Amino acid sequence: MSGIHLEHISQHFGEQIALDDVSLTVHEGEFFSLLGPSGCGKSTLLNIIGGFLEPTKGVVYIGDQDVTALPPYQRKTGMVFQSYALFPHLTVFDNVAYGLKVQKKKKAEIKQKVMESLSLVQLEEYAKRMPHQLSGGQQQRVAIARALAIQPSVLLLDEPLSNLDAKLRKNMQTELRNIQRNVGITTILVTHDQEEALSLSDRIGILGEGRIQQIGTPLEVYRQPNNRFVAEFIGQVNLFEAVYDEAGSTFTVPHLTQSNGQHVQLKPAGHKRKREKYLLMLRPERISISSVKEEFQPNHVTGVLADVSYIGHSLRLVVGLDKGEIIVHASDAAFPQLPEVGETVHINWQPEDVVFLDSKVHT
Ligand code: ADP
Ligand code: MG
Repeated sequence: MSGIHLEHISQHFGEQIALDDVSLTVHEGEFFSLLGPSGCGKSTLLNIIGGFLEPTKGVVYIGDQDVTALPPYQRKTGMVFQSYALFPHLTVFDNVAYGLKVQKKKKAEIKQKVMESLSLVQLEEYAKRMPHQLSGGQQQRVAIARALAIQPSVLLLDEPLSNLDAKLRKNMQTELRNIQRNVGITTILVTHDQEEALSLSDRIGILGEGRIQQIGTPLEVYRQPNNRFVAEFIGQVNLFEAVYDEAGSTFTVPHLTQSNGQHVQLKPAGHKRKREKYLLMLRPERISISSVKEEFQPNHVTGVLADVSYIGHSLRLVVGLDKGEIIVHASDAAFPQLPEVGETVHINWQPEDVVFLDSKVHT
């Protein structure tokens, strides 16, 4: 088992810069996710770690070893590719045995390691089946067993669950996490699914436009995003470009106006008064909604419901203002009856739920 360390990795494809100076460290035994939208360079980075692509610039370490120039089979990495290709003409056993046969291991050892790997993914009984006789989830488990069979020191997974339907995907996520814990193997999971990354990872690296935007625990990246990109990519968010108003120690939001003609004012908990303009964030589930005005609250706004969507466990409410809108997520349990579009509503939130984002506001 080893950690992974990337130093100043860049990847150019002709004119295009797919990765731009990416540095990161994945600790030994850690479950690390690389999260980002399609085309942001996730697979490119994973392929560089696995040795399927040599970076234009930069160094890859696995453990203490500089592996940048080594071919994949000398890196002790197990990889599950985005389009999980099992060999269709080989049995489950032979699929999992493939890497061991390439390494010219003895027959008895191959058998033992294949059965061990299949037992990790709970498919010992399926050794003799052909891939087409398995469900999508089972095929994916075989692909994971195949990657683990060579006893790699790191496991690299490129969107391994993206072809599965929602329910199966959830089950497989739990299984994946259990397998990783049992084996204790350093793992990088590439995904574009923020919920998957949040629920599985020890830490997440958010990749946007070929650059690392933030690295942190699920809680850190959700509650204290570095910038607009991270805030918008992970979950839903209300963003406010606000101007500091020294007289009232408040932040005025010029792009939000209430029906009384006043701009929305934000009172955050603690604030740095270095600049005039700030980018502030408020998560929709941190906002309380009420049919009565709660003027004693430090942050309160009145608006009219512009949209109501019922998502089962929660409601997504769009509170329309004279200019602009604020998104609110409320628990299903809070509403015996669904509120209706056109109703006047009062919203409020706590000062500590107003979060400062680091990036400068460009106007
Ligand atoms: P992701 O996995 O995040 O969806 P990729 O790493 O596959 O993104 O791709 C990042 C960018 O690099 C994309 O714009 C893609 O078109 C480009 N790219 C990836 N591989 C190649 C390649 N072999 N040749 C040229 N461009 C590539
Ligand atoms: Mg990809």
